Amino acid sequence: VAERRRKYWGWGYEDEQPAPDELRATAAGLADHLGFGDREPEPAVALADVKLAPPRLETPYAQDTWSRAAHAQGRSYLDVVRGLRGEFPHPPDGVAFPGSEEELRGVLDWCGERDVAVVPFGGGTSVVGGVDAIPGPGHAGVVAVNLRGLDRVLEVDPVSRAARIQAGATGPGLEAQLAEHGLTLRFYPQSFELSTLGGWIATRAGGHFATGTTHIDDLVESVRALTAEGELWESRRLPASGAGPSPDRMLLGSEGTLAVITEAWVRVQPRPERRRSATVTFPDFAAGLEAMRAVVQAGLRPANCRLLEPEEARLTLAGEASAGGEASGRDRCSKALMVLGFEEVVEPADRAFDLCRAHGGEVSEGRGGGSGAWREAFLRAPYLRDTFAAMGVLSETFETAITWERLPGFVAQVKAAAAQALGEGSVMCRVTHAYPDGAAPYFTVLGPVRRGEEADRWGRVKAAASEAILGAGGTITHHHAVGRDHRPYYDRQRPEPFAHALRAAKAALDPRARLNPGVLFDAR
Ligand SMILES: Cc1cc2nc3c(=O)[nH]c(=O)nc-3n(C[C@H](O)[C@H](O)[C@H](O)COP(=O)(O)OP(=O)(O)OC[C@H]3O[C@@H](n4cnc5c(N)ncnc54)[C@H](O)[C@@H]3O)c2cc1C
Repeated sequence: VAERRRKYWGWGYEDEQPAPDELRATAAGLADHLGFGDREPEPAVALADVKLAPPRLETPYAQDTWSRAAHAQGRSYLDVVRGLRGEFPHPPDGVAFPGSEEELRGVLDWCGERDVAVVPFGGGTSVVGGVDAIPGPGHAGVVAVNLRGLDRVLEVDPVSRAARIQAGATGPGLEAQLAEHGLTLRFYPQSFELSTLGGWIATRAGGHFATGTTHIDDLVESVRALTAEGELWESRRLPASGAGPSPDRMLLGSEGTLAVITEAWVRVQPRPERRRSATVTFPDFAAGLEAMRAVVQAGLRPANCRLLEPEEARLTLAGEASAGGEASGRDRCSKALMVLGFEEVVEPADRAFDLCRAHGGEVSEGRGGGSGAWREAFLRAPYLRDTFAAMGVLSETFETAITWERLPGFVAQVKAAAAQALGEGSVMCRVTHAYPDGAAPYFTVLGPVRRGEEADRWGRVKAAASEAILGAGGTITHHHAVGRDHRPYYDRQRPEPFAHALRAAKAALDPRARLNPGVLFDAR
């Protein structure tokens, strides 16, 4: 069976891309809805016309244009804009596709003997410059290591409810294999379709479930990895342990700088059978925030609990007429909207609905309606980003977390800073994750941008938003990771002694700083 090939830029597979007419129709619809953006999308540069810098060295790995272009960068807004235009400033010199841990060891050895840097590559969906193939000082070149050949569920333990899964398995790939056992990891980042278990662990990814186990951290039981020098790192399978600092925690969020993750035991569960969901409208965002806090602080643990500003709700539910009816759709969109869902343990739903009503919420229970439309929009969003780039619309998202007592003022401050830097367009907020002591606001930026000015406009918005987040006490990222783009802010956020400790760990494990140079921290 021929392997399905990913599009070499943007989102999805080559065989599922829209025809030019469809793309034009989508662009026209979006432009009408937004009030800006070209109805005539810019055509993508064909692979045959892509010109890459020649490799710095001969490698025994793939050196064709598709392989090098597809592994040159991640999928941030600017990556998508560059890819559309056939621009790949940092292609790797070769791309290795190991099919086993032993083959991976062989790649690491080959690179080690020649002082070649190595970029671990999962799904390549990084939005922070995490997979750019840029060598560090003294390196002879860069090899990207695509882990897609390690994509199996190797073992299932139905008693403890855990599974041993290889790092290159994508969301649909691992879920299909777990389904054969009636189990699920139930971890759904928006990039689920293309991102991998290894990438999730390396970036401490966040799934779309709003409370409880929202980060992959909580699902990891043990990790197996190879260091740049080929040493095996394997932690014990344990439900919990108080034996010193956690070796798993050290790899969680290490962003490919300390070791290449090859597999992990993760906590799985039976597929949920009972569900209750509702959309709740609130007169304003502040009332919705208070209701959200009441729900999580009451310990009710909804599977989904997202709060959308009216403007974001309007955008998300634009096509809702068929699900909720024109009138009710319009009404919902003039208000803040909460998508609230319970799974398996659904009894707390009534209490949660009462708490929402006590904060002025109008509860509309049932399938479809707002939650159905929200789900559709969530799944469609990764594809729309390519269209936005082609129609001259700057589309960026950034996310953070902050404690409840600072949240309302914080959201206003960050939005104002980003909006001022953006100029024409809009900055919208939704709260994607709720914790007993705080929550994670997620911002969407959409605005018209002239072709060729994308990097400059994006840079100004990103800097303004990041400064505002840091200045007001938030984290530079709740789940998108640090990569290269967040480096300057992460450097200021973390305690300095911790930076020393990270560098010392790096020096011990990867003395020639060959794994993912420039990502997360400076080795020296
Ligand atoms: C449209 C879109 C939606 C997104 N939605 C979400 C979301 O809902 N939640 C979220 O958390 N993130 C989201 N992201 C960001 C991204 O998907 C995550 O960071 C994801 O975890 C990356 O996984 P990946 O397999 O694609 O890793 P890659 O992008 O390939 O790599 C990410 C980083 O991890 C390292 N790495 C990858 N695999 C390994 C490995 N096996 N061993 C060691 N290091 C490794 C890489 O070197 C790199 O530094 C989104 C991105 C896009 C484009």
